[in-house]
Amino acid sequence: METKEDPIVRIVRLMLGEVAAKIFEHLYKNTSEIRDDEIAEALDFKLNSVRRNLYLLSEHGLVTYRRVRSKETGWYMYYWKINRESVQSIINARKHMVLKKLKERLAYEENNAFYICPLDGSRYTFDEALENEFKCSRCGAGLVYYDNADIVNYLKERIRKLEKSLKQKSS
Ligand SMILES: [Zn+2]
Repeated sequence: METKEDPIVRIVRLMLGEVAAKIFEHLYKNTSEIRDDEIAEALDFKLNSVRRNLYLLSEHGLVTYRRVRSKETGWYMYYWKINRESVQSIINARKHMVLKKLKERLAYEENNAFYICPLDGSRYTFDEALENEFKCSRCGAGLVYYDNADIVNYLKERIRKLEKSLKQKSS
C-alpha cells in the first residue's frame, strides 16, 4: 500500500535528494520537535548523514532547530522542526513558476496554427510545416491541420485552478 506523498516532499526531493526528502517528510508529519538521533533511529539512517542533511535543509530555510545543553553530559542537543512559513512560501513560489510556464504555453498555443502528421502524430507549427512543404520531416506523409482547442481549454482550466489556489493561500 503506497500512501499519497505530499507535493512539498516531492519538491524537496528534487531540490536536495532522497535522504533530505525522507528526513523532511518525517519532520513534516510530526508537530513536535525531534532530535537528530531520534530521526536517525526512526529512519534507520546514519547520524552523520542525518545531521548533514538537516543542515542542508536549514540552509534552504525548510527546517529550524533549537539548541539545548544537556545538564548531564554538557553536550549540545539539537531539536529540529519544520519551518512552516517558509515551506508555504516555497510552495507558493513554485506555483507562481508553474503558472508562468502554463501562461507561456497557452500563449504559444493561441498564437500558432498547428499541423500534424496523421501517421506518427508529430506536431508542427505553421512556419515549420511551411518550411517542410507540409510534409512530415520524420516520415514524409502529408500534414493535416490540427485543432488545438482541447489543449487550449486544458491549459486555461489548469491556470484557473492554480490562480484560485494562490488567491486562497495569500488571503
Ligand atoms: Zn510523420
